[in-house]
Amino acid sequence: MFDNLLEIKGLGPLLRSSWPWRLIRLAGLVVLLAMTAYGWHHHAIPGVEVRDPLMYTNFASYFFWVLWMMGVVFLALLMGRAWCTVCPLGWINGLISRIGLNRPLPSWLDNFVSVTLALVALQLAVYFLAIHRFPDYTAALLALMLLLALGSGLIFRKRSFCTLFCPAGAVFGLYARVAPFQLRVRDGEVCNACASKNCVSGAPLHKRLTLGSAVLTWQGRRSDCPADLVLAGIEDSATCSLCLHCVQNCDNDNIVLGRRPWLADLGRGGLRPSETLFFLVLLGMVTANFSKVYVDLREVIFWAPQQAAVLLGWASAGYYLLTALWVALVFPLLLLLPGYLVLRLGELQVETLPISSSAPPAPAAAEPHRLGFWNTLGELALPLIPMVLAAHVVLAVVKLNAKGGYLPFVMADPSGVKSYLAISVMKTVAAPGVLIPLDILKWLALALLIGGYLLALAGARRAAASLGGRKVKTCLLAAMVPVTLVAAIYGATLYTWLFVR
Ligand code: SF4
Ligand code: SF4
Repeated sequence: MFDNLLEIKGLGPLLRSSWPWRLIRLAGLVVLLAMTAYGWHHHAIPGVEVRDPLMYTNFASYFFWVLWMMGVVFLALLMGRAWCTVCPLGWINGLISRIGLNRPLPSWLDNFVSVTLALVALQLAVYFLAIHRFPDYTAALLALMLLLALGSGLIFRKRSFCTLFCPAGAVFGLYARVAPFQLRVRDGEVCNACASKNCVSGAPLHKRLTLGSAVLTWQGRRSDCPADLVLAGIEDSATCSLCLHCVQNCDNDNIVLGRRPWLADLGRGGLRPSETLFFLVLLGMVTANFSKVYVDLREVIFWAPQQAAVLLGWASAGYYLLTALWVALVFPLLLLLPGYLVLRLGELQVETLPISSSAPPAPAAAEPHRLGFWNTLGELALPLIPMVLAAHVVLAVVKLNAKGGYLPFVMADPSGVKSYLAISVMKTVAAPGVLIPLDILKWLALALLIGGYLLALAGARRAAASLGGRKVKTCLLAAMVPVTLVAAIYGATLYTWLFVR
């Protein structure tokens, strides 16, 4: 049934038509503007001593940090970049670029460095300002994102905002490599024989609207591919933003959007060095966030920056800076380095040479081609993607389970002031409870983590095949060590968090 969603009755015509998606994106834009408006100027409640009373009752902070940020993880689990299909920011960025300067993105910006910096900046804003707790900070963040989408659209061609500033898109690109759905061409030969390439050409077209005898014709333009992809050559799902433009434009019905095995893109080459850098930052942040509920483990993880801050005599700001550097770079590197060391140790060779021989030693056999440091890390990172995704989904499930019950309050009172006063001050309304009892939730979370670990082990086998130039067992061990290390951290955290009470 899911071999091709485009052929499912009801869903297929919807996916092939551009108007429903435009309306959904427009609705997303309205929600984004509503979040900005309802969050603006709402920081706290005068007279209430709690620092962040509106965190879960205000429309902006609740919709963005709870529903939006957590909800998209489920979409990513199944369809990688599916959120990008309806994302209002990517859409508005692409629309504005049609009337802008249309400059190509310079090659020094066409990588993951700026988006890595955006992710670090966002995390620093969460650490230092706790922007996720205050509606006005959240509204300012949304307004900034909208301005960046408009500004970058006016300068650069296509969806430059996604490449430059959107960490979510980069995260979805990672998860898309393991997701069980993909967009591909049905038959490469049909594409080779197609001269127009209307799927991605952006060529002009005529449209006609008729109502009885009244006929209106006008010239429009086909929507092109925002990622400049050649459909027959797509090898992995990381860059396709599932905008569906090609589906809506292909005259040969040669595109399939359907299921495939999990992990299908693993083993087709590792991450690019700049994407590896992004992945390291993500791995460090997800792991640090996940394990912060396990106090003993958290102290172990943060021991080094704490000691460094004490030695340097740096107080709070300096300590936070050291911690951010540690979490974003050094700590995730330490998680991957054991795998790298296993690979290097596997290259050790001991040869016995005759002592008395006067003949010069025979030249060593030609070295097999081996990957450099960053490319090796890029291969070792791939099997960790399902593990990080599993932790992300567990965090989303726990958050939505705990805070999902606030939705009716947020809809009834978007500013959140009356709801907070009723729930927490006057206590005329009971605080919303969890949606799923803890006894069920903990097993669900455990099943998700175990599923992630099993997928990660399967991914390790594929990554081992790509590491090349070494013994297969060494490569397999190297790929499995980081996966098992990270799984142990997540497993220990989950056990103390949900099972030991
Ligand atoms: S990359 Fe980001 S901004 Fe672009 S469409 Fe996807 S979620 Fe939206
Ligand atoms: S291949 Fe290009 S046009 Fe087609 S869905 Fe992906 S990003 Fe959109």
